[in-house]
Amino acid sequence: MYDVILIRFGEIALKGENRHEFMQQLVKNIKNTIATTGDFSIKKTHGRIYIFPKKEQSEEIIARLKNLPGIVSFSPAISTKADFAMIKEKALTIFKREVANFPTTFKVETKRADKNFPIKSPQVSSKLGAHILENINAEQENKLTVDVHQPEQMLNVEIRRGKAYLFTRTIAGPGGLPVYSTGRGLLLLSGGIDSPVAGWLGMKRGLAIDAVYFHTFPYTGERAKEKVKELTKILSKYCGRIFLHVVHFTEIQRAINEDCPERYTVTMMRRLMYRVANKIAADNHHQVLLNGESLGQVASQTLESIISTDDAADLPVLRPLITMNKNEIINLAKKIGTYQTSIQPYEDCCTVFVPDKPVTRPSLQVARNAEANLNVAQLVEEAIAKTEIIKVESPL
Ligand code: ATP
Ligand code: MG
Repeated sequence: MYDVILIRFGEIALKGENRHEFMQQLVKNIKNTIATTGDFSIKKTHGRIYIFPKKEQSEEIIARLKNLPGIVSFSPAISTKADFAMIKEKALTIFKREVANFPTTFKVETKRADKNFPIKSPQVSSKLGAHILENINAEQENKLTVDVHQPEQMLNVEIRRGKAYLFTRTIAGPGGLPVYSTGRGLLLLSGGIDSPVAGWLGMKRGLAIDAVYFHTFPYTGERAKEKVKELTKILSKYCGRIFLHVVHFTEIQRAINEDCPERYTVTMMRRLMYRVANKIAADNHHQVLLNGESLGQVASQTLESIISTDDAADLPVLRPLITMNKNEIINLAKKIGTYQTSIQPYEDCCTVFVPDKPVTRPSLQVARNAEANLNVAQLVEEAIAKTEIIKVESPL
């Protein structure tokens, strides 16, 4: 039914000389995201990206575009030559198809970017409004009325470069910047609520991410790993593909339990997670690490904990959730579709080995000394050797 999808991107337009690069990246991401939906062509101009689907595949494309960082909003539209007679005809076509529940109210809104078009925007709107009203109400009076303040239905008309685009729907995208446009990050992904949201926020700011999960088999079972895979799959909808590194963390965990002060177990575990992540990041060109910490949320997320664990990371650690409250994080998790999976009960390694009274304000020096009891290089090397790398692709 639609022959074109109009894509709006807000922020990219502000990026000065980087603009071209950001646009290229967004077009590339759109192509990748909708590649398997069928044939289409794509065109970009200064203010818009246009997708021309070849067949009736728009609904599937819509489902994918909703999640693509960099897209502010989009509208499936019918296009025609910028000729008023033709615009009138198409307006009626789209209105008849889209609007089923009568009686209803509507409004026409016109944007005339092409000043060669002879009729000004407000006149286009009022003439089209009258045309629709007259035709739709032909059989039944008052089926349709105009309401310019709170219409139940919109008909938008955009006139650009000799063409007119008509649409009734404006669908929100996530906004932000196109994935891959700002760099590459490695997300520490547990099975919890927080870290998937942190990953999504990173992607929303243009980071391409891969993920690392520390698996303490058999203390954490196969189901916990499956849960993390499922979360990775959901996240991959926003970027197309994620490599999930499943690190077998059991030996490291045992060494910590044997050779480090009990109250420092969590601190040491976190430091060793960073030690392994450092190596994965170095081997895979990641420029930053990301995690799901939020200041003060739990004992291991006090400022002192962050200070005494961050010390073990070679790369900057981004914490997109650092100032967020739990309910804000939960709301986002629901929005991006990870919440239901995250609340399944399978435990990640943290909960199994947490001591009764973990230190809430660990000392950096004690943590460093404790780490000196471990053969870090060997432990990391062995964990890396056993790491399983899973390529997770977008499920749609
Ligand atoms: P989440 O909801 O993400 O599990 P959390 O509130 O349970 O977070 P912690 O258990 O303190 O918090 O973990 C803090 C962060 O450390 C997590 O958000 C995640 O980035 C990382 N992390 C914790 N456990 C693991 C794990 N088993 N594998 C990978 N990363 C982990
Ligand atoms: Mg957790």
